[in-house]
Amino acid sequence: MFGLLGRKLGHSLSPQIHAKLGDYKYDLFCKEPEELESFFADKSLKGYNVTIPYKVNAFNACDELSQRAKKIGSVNTCIRRPDGTLYGDNTDYFGFSYMAKKAGADFRDKKVLILGSGGASLTVQIVARDEGAREIIVVSRTGENNYKNLNLHYDSDIIVNTTPVGMYPNNGEKLIELSHFEKCTCVLDLIYNPLKTQLLIDAEILGKNYANGLSMLVAQAVKSAEQFIDKKIPETEIDRVYNELLLERRNILFVGMPGSGKSTVGKLLAQKLGREFVDTDEMIVEKEGRSIPDIFATDGEGYFRDVEEECVSQACKEMGRVIATGGGAVIRFSNRFSMKENSVIIFLDRDVSSLATDGRPLSSSIEKIKEMYGIRYPLYGAVADFTVKTNDNAEVTLNEVLKCVF
Ligand code: NAP
Repeated sequence: MFGLLGRKLGHSLSPQIHAKLGDYKYDLFCKEPEELESFFADKSLKGYNVTIPYKVNAFNACDELSQRAKKIGSVNTCIRRPDGTLYGDNTDYFGFSYMAKKAGADFRDKKVLILGSGGASLTVQIVARDEGAREIIVVSRTGENNYKNLNLHYDSDIIVNTTPVGMYPNNGEKLIELSHFEKCTCVLDLIYNPLKTQLLIDAEILGKNYANGLSMLVAQAVKSAEQFIDKKIPETEIDRVYNELLLERRNILFVGMPGSGKSTVGKLLAQKLGREFVDTDEMIVEKEGRSIPDIFATDGEGYFRDVEEECVSQACKEMGRVIATGGGAVIRFSNRFSMKENSVIIFLDRDVSSLATDGRPLSSSIEKIKEMYGIRYPLYGAVADFTVKTNDNAEVTLNEVLKCVF
């Protein structure tokens, strides 16, 4: 039996990852600090991973350590040997190195800026140094290099976020303005919920290479699993598990004009995939306790858009959903950011002449629809990952959507 030792593990992805790697039992062990001594002394477990806040405790509890664990000063994988001794390794080292390669980051002769000075920062510093970085700057809120003198390091080539800033549920927070770092070609963020933090969305918009922490999480798990089952696992398994997780976790989100079929196709898709379906217009109606035409008539479009912004942000923070958004949601910049965090975005593009007009306050006539279409079309195109032409046949559209997503 294997598992993960930590304090609060409710949202851990490790059991899902290990279930994809092998036919072994993998449990979560949530322990308080006073329970650690007896946990480390228990010889019934063959091996386990260790996460925040116990990686240093595990380091101290091991009888023997790998070179990597010694360098980093913490342990994320413990193996109980046949003679009863405990061996400690740190597979985060491999995990981060894999993540960096996946994003095309080459540390040789580069200036690397690392945000945060905790445990993960130490791993990143050691990998960057071992892989030939010319200069490594650690930014700490209380250190010599801090967020007030970042201008000294606008010439950094690679930026790595090892802080929890921007992590769920505090989506949208960020520590730096990436546009100042003109020389930077690659941004790595260890966070994997959301799949794209604001920092990574900025990187995408600015055309820089980037990666989130999901590949690191999977790669470190694969290296731990090899030690659990005492068998080499091919590196292709990392990508397989990563891609499976990504497909399971990513939302499929629809944008498009009112009446283009977002709700109809979205519901069919959710049913087919066994996923939760969320319609942001329905969220607004439920939140306000009145219809959308009523909201427009009583409080105007500005108020409606404010409520819509809250609902879009809330809907897009969660993962594994099918989401239909209101036709005008793309107008606000903040909504386009929320959509990009966790979703693959599909623009359902339907011929203007066949768009429905009933019960839709801003598209009550064909002239109004044409005007709206002209304004919104470039926004739909810019935010979407795929455009699917639609007609009256929802099943045909559904198949086109499935081809794009999977
Ligand atoms: P940690 O030891 O608590 O360190 C986090 C560091 O972030 C702190 O030392 C602090 O540095 C900085 N920080 C914390 N709150 C901040 C704030 N509000 N503003 C600015 N800086 C702040 O945690 P960790 O183990 O290093 O983990 C850090 C992050 O990496 C977490 O989000 C974790 O989920 C992620 N992680 C991911 C993987 C993966 O496989 N993808 C693996 C390990 C960790 P200063 O006090 O110096 O500013």
